[in-house]
Amino acid sequence: YHAKSEMQGVSVYRPEDDMHSPKRLALLNDLGRAIREDQLQVYFQPKIDINGRHTYGFEALLRWQHPELGFVPPGEFVPLAEMTNLIHPMTLWVLEQSIKQARQWREQGYDFTVAVNLSARNLLDETLPDHVYELLQQYDLPPQLLELEITESSIMVNPELAMAALEKIHDLGVELAIDDFGTGYSSLAYLKRLPVRQLKIDYSFIIHMLEDKQDEIIVNSTINLAHNLGLNVIAEGVETEAHLQCLQALGCDKAQGYLMGKPMPVEEIDAWLVDGLWYQTSPKAGQA
Ligand code: C2E
Ligand code: MG
Ligand code: MG
Ligand code: MG
Repeated sequence: YHAKSEMQGVSVYRPEDDMHSPKRLALLNDLGRAIREDQLQVYFQPKIDINGRHTYGFEALLRWQHPELGFVPPGEFVPLAEMTNLIHPMTLWVLEQSIKQARQWREQGYDFTVAVNLSARNLLDETLPDHVYELLQQYDLPPQLLELEITESSIMVNPELAMAALEKIHDLGVELAIDDFGTGYSSLAYLKRLPVRQLKIDYSFIIHMLEDKQDEIIVNSTINLAHNLGLNVIAEGVETEAHLQCLQALGCDKAQGYLMGKPMPVEEIDAWLVDGLWYQTSPKAGQA
């Protein structure tokens, strides 16, 4: 069921097309209940360092198991939440689960980062930086282990407010990344001013980069742009070893994708780590 669910997540859903349809309104109503009644779950997808081929952290991705409809992909319900105030409790819930999990990993001896997606409305919420601060305090997590992913388009909704929120979050020591880079419309002038550490190349460029010269050029240029601006760069949607090798040759720093691991419930992560393919428990293990 896993592969099927993940495939569905990729479909492009435009809520503005039918946001007032009875089906959407019912789903929105159910979502409020889902948040209160624990039907949502956070899955975690590994992120690796390409040169060391070593997992350094995970991205938190929301999953909703609806009692009647079954799996509803985040591409469908996140935009719904985003149109209402539900996005605020939802984001805080994901933040808390993720920070709690990172703390748990630390107790197990792993220094993994955890990345949480923010949406446009979160950047307009002036209380968000304080909430982030309080959660880091509550779970005693070093701020640099938390990453927040924001898209270019969400910044451009209100660049001044977004910039102010991002400055505050950055001042806490939290790392910021631009998600889906290259797909939104944004301005390089803002990119220059934003306190971000990382660009995340959208999977739509990665999946075709081996056959499509133009995509390879875009990927290569993005890597160079990031490095020239002093940022690191991660590729999402890395599905094959050939992709990973090409990215390594182009100088990409980090990677995330089905090749290394799909988003997993936390119960599966321990086994995945012990599997050892993308995580060596001891850096010296290979020398024995
Ligand atoms: P995103 O942040 O760009 O997340 C990456 C998406 O790519 C995830 O889809 C992930 O499952 C998928 N993916 C990862 N590796 C591969 C691969 O190798 N091949 C392919 N084909 N896909 C891959 P997912 O989990 O369906 O999430 C879709 C989007 O929903 C996310 O895109 C993000 O924008 C949004 N989302 C998910 N969770 C949250 C959340 O907690 N808060 C907010 N605001 N948005 C979320
Ligand atoms: Mg993301
Ligand atoms: Mg992304
Ligand atoms: Mg993407």
